[in-house]
Amino acid sequence: MSRADYYERTEPASDSDWHARPLEGVFDELETSEAGLASSDAQDRLEREGPNEIEGEEGTSPLEILLEQYTSALIWVLIVAAVVMAGVGHTVDAAVIAGIVVFITLFGFVQDYRAEQSIQALKEMSTTYALVRRDGEKREIDATNLVPGDIVFVESGDVVPADARLLEESNLRVDEAALTGESVGVSKEVGRVDGEVALAERENMLFKDTVVERGSGTAVVVETGSESEIGQIATALEEAEDRETPFQAEMDRLGKIIAGIVILAVAVIAVAELLVGETEPLQVFLTAVGIAVSAVPEGLPAVVTLSLALGARRMADQNALVRRLPIVEALGSVDVICTDKTGTLTEEEMTVQRIVANREVYEVTGTGYDTDGEFLRDDQPVSDERVAEVLRCGMLCNNVDVGIRERDDDGGDGAKAVEEAGEQERTYLGDPTEVALFVAAQKAGFDHEELAAEYPRRGEVEFTSARKRMTTIHETPDGDPTAYMKGAPETVLERCDRELVDGEIVELTDERRGALEERNEEFAEDALRVMGFAYRPDVPADQVDDPDEDLERDMVFLGLQGMLDPPRPEVPGALAGCLDAGINVVMITGDNAVTARAVGKEVGLRSATVITGPELEEMSDEDLAEIVEDVDVFARTSPEHKTRILQTLQEKGHTVAMTGDGVNDAPAVKNSDVGVAMGIRGTDVTEQASDIVLLDDNFATIRDAVKGGRRIFDNVRKFVNYLLSGNGGEVTMVFSGSMLGFGLVITPIQILFINVVTDGIPALSMGVDPPAEDIMEREPRPPDEGVITERIVTSIVGIALFMTICLLPLFTLNFYGELVPGYDVLGAVAGWSPDYDPGRELAQTMVFTGFVVMQIVRIQAVRFRYGLGLFTNRWLVIGILVSITLQLLVIYTPTGQFLFDVEPLALVHWVQIAISAAIFALLMAGFVKVQDRYFERY
Ligand code: ATP
Repeated sequence: MSRADYYERTEPASDSDWHARPLEGVFDELETSEAGLASSDAQDRLEREGPNEIEGEEGTSPLEILLEQYTSALIWVLIVAAVVMAGVGHTVDAAVIAGIVVFITLFGFVQDYRAEQSIQALKEMSTTYALVRRDGEKREIDATNLVPGDIVFVESGDVVPADARLLEESNLRVDEAALTGESVGVSKEVGRVDGEVALAERENMLFKDTVVERGSGTAVVVETGSESEIGQIATALEEAEDRETPFQAEMDRLGKIIAGIVILAVAVIAVAELLVGETEPLQVFLTAVGIAVSAVPEGLPAVVTLSLALGARRMADQNALVRRLPIVEALGSVDVICTDKTGTLTEEEMTVQRIVANREVYEVTGTGYDTDGEFLRDDQPVSDERVAEVLRCGMLCNNVDVGIRERDDDGGDGAKAVEEAGEQERTYLGDPTEVALFVAAQKAGFDHEELAAEYPRRGEVEFTSARKRMTTIHETPDGDPTAYMKGAPETVLERCDRELVDGEIVELTDERRGALEERNEEFAEDALRVMGFAYRPDVPADQVDDPDEDLERDMVFLGLQGMLDPPRPEVPGALAGCLDAGINVVMITGDNAVTARAVGKEVGLRSATVITGPELEEMSDEDLAEIVEDVDVFARTSPEHKTRILQTLQEKGHTVAMTGDGVNDAPAVKNSDVGVAMGIRGTDVTEQASDIVLLDDNFATIRDAVKGGRRIFDNVRKFVNYLLSGNGGEVTMVFSGSMLGFGLVITPIQILFINVVTDGIPALSMGVDPPAEDIMEREPRPPDEGVITERIVTSIVGIALFMTICLLPLFTLNFYGELVPGYDVLGAVAGWSPDYDPGRELAQTMVFTGFVVMQIVRIQAVRFRYGLGLFTNRWLVIGILVSITLQLLVIYTPTGQFLFDVEPLALVHWVQIAISAAIFALLMAGFVKVQDRYFERY
């Protein structure tokens, strides 16, 4: 069933009626309650019900991978060749070809299988977390460990982890497109829904893998994994086709071009040979097959996939999780990185350092999330009372919780233990900005549980990056509901007409506003992130339970808190590295212009030229296009601004990597050339829209990913260059030999052996070549530049000619040895044995071995251009040794001689080969000089 068909059908996939039961019925059935499960119970259920995963999501099976090897036309050409050979009695040749077929398929199988495993491993690395209540407290757990009966909490940006019945919600809207195909968000309500209704109408239910667009909710998990609605259809739906990577597409195109050339060459040879009539038709047929096989880079697609997959694996070890393989190619051409500030450039372990309250400035002592600290004025400690109101507001208007985070590590997010709870750490769960405010309030002795009991929350107007503020409504000990607001100072001040000074509410004069703005600026210049706080005592009755933005006016200003978020120590180095690599770095932040500039200077942005969101809105597209390349800080932006900046940069021809964390960042992340999501801080939605997830949220990791991308690209380019020039050499050599009337200068079986074994093995090891020394010093690769550049085409042609020029004398000298005047004199001087017998077999052996040796020279030459010496890749050394050993076995063992029709070589032959390989090396070196004149370096 296709997804479209699925959406067409009217019956829900399952006949579950969780939506129609009374809540108590749901709780009874699941043997749970609003208090959630005990961990031990959850563990038992997990064993009983199985993990919260949809089965049948494993990738391709080994058998399928093996069978895929037989979809290549070339394999069939070889199989037919083997059958024909066997049919005419050439059983040895037939057996050798069959052996090579087996080798190619096994080789391909092993490569594809490893690639597949790497891809699977990468998939498994992206874990999603779910916030649940267990043992009476909130815990962040791996979503696969969810069980029916768990109480889960979701908020905007989350992907719903399992099917669940809603218990509480605030403004909750969910995008259920994944399940129903309907892209308009569905508002959710608590309560019972009667009867047989479509999934989309079950508004009291949350469904696995749908996305929370807005608001928050609490729900009880009813079905997990394959039992969930999406789980029931997942197996029924066709798997989405894996997209071909641009590399692979280019390789395919290349394959076709080569096939065309081969057919032409083969036709000419066949006609010529048949006309001259010296060779028997069977040999002509075999020559044709040999050329076809020699020219087409049969191993290439597999090597490309493998090096992409291995590269992606390596990047994951460096905390950059590649979600889509094709992106590796785009990474190498990124020339602008648009990055968030908070948490990516900075540590995101924020600490409140200064407070403005009661018209005075206070310093706060203590570092990080340590709750010990004092409040100082003029270096003298003051009573907590002086700052109590602004801190209380910061703790009330706050969604941080203390709970348990069940992660393998703390992901470097700076979350510190609040106290040890058995083996597990209790930490702050929530937004680091809010954690900072939470900790500051703790320093003044506020306890969040007591405060929550004293001031129970009634409602919330949510924070969004566009609003830059949030408000909560609380009951208060004196009976009147009160609203507490926090947000960017200017948005808060705009909504205040009074201020609280020493317990009295007084008018907020223009002069006072000016003074506060000055303070704000002063803090910001010291790179502090500043927030404003206010409250509203007289909340209108209709706003208490269902507040909206209208509530946020006539407020009483309480003060400011300025928090320090130091740059990550590795960022300035990484940023300088990007600039050296021709990649401009642009900071796009919601924070204030002054703070943003101060941080921008600290981390070493190019110019720290700032444009603010409001300024951006004033600008026409043309004006923006004119300045966009010179601006490297965009401050006070909303997520839509990101999209506009992105588009403008892309229109100017830039390849842009864009980071994002919030729900609304998803469009910009999705539309960028390389979308980067934050693994720790980011929402599930941005993660789904992204190409790469930074497991440590760190800017330096983006730099490493770009470097990784460039390296993979280089490696692909190197072995494409190597394999194609080698193949070019073989075709030209065979073709020339045939045209010059020498017949077969090398046997097809020997060509096959070179291509598949002695070339194939070293080529494979180039997939793990180290990065070139200058990899982060050169300019980004233009996005339309494929693997094969003009320079590489000239290399292929040049090398093919040089190989032929160097190999033909090896053939003729040994084939027509006695006919050359003075040849025996030479032989006498060189000490050739008297029974030295030149002949075709020997001459072919010379060409065969000459090829192998030249390819070893060639592989080094290719790598030399990237500044890589022979011993920089031990796999390559091993690969070359294996190749040489195999070649020697072929030449010097009776079995090898029997199978490959070769003659053992004497020292003198090796001397000839060495001389011709040296000439080949010299020709290449000279050619490189010529190429350097006309082409870019690569
Ligand atoms: P970046 O875009 O670099 O991550 P940011 O965190 O400042 O920076 P946003 O999350 O869009 O970006 O926040 C924008 C502004 O909204 C902040 O500068 C701050 O003034 C305010 N703000 C941030 N978090 C909250 C919050 N939880 N409650 C109220 N206001 C907030």
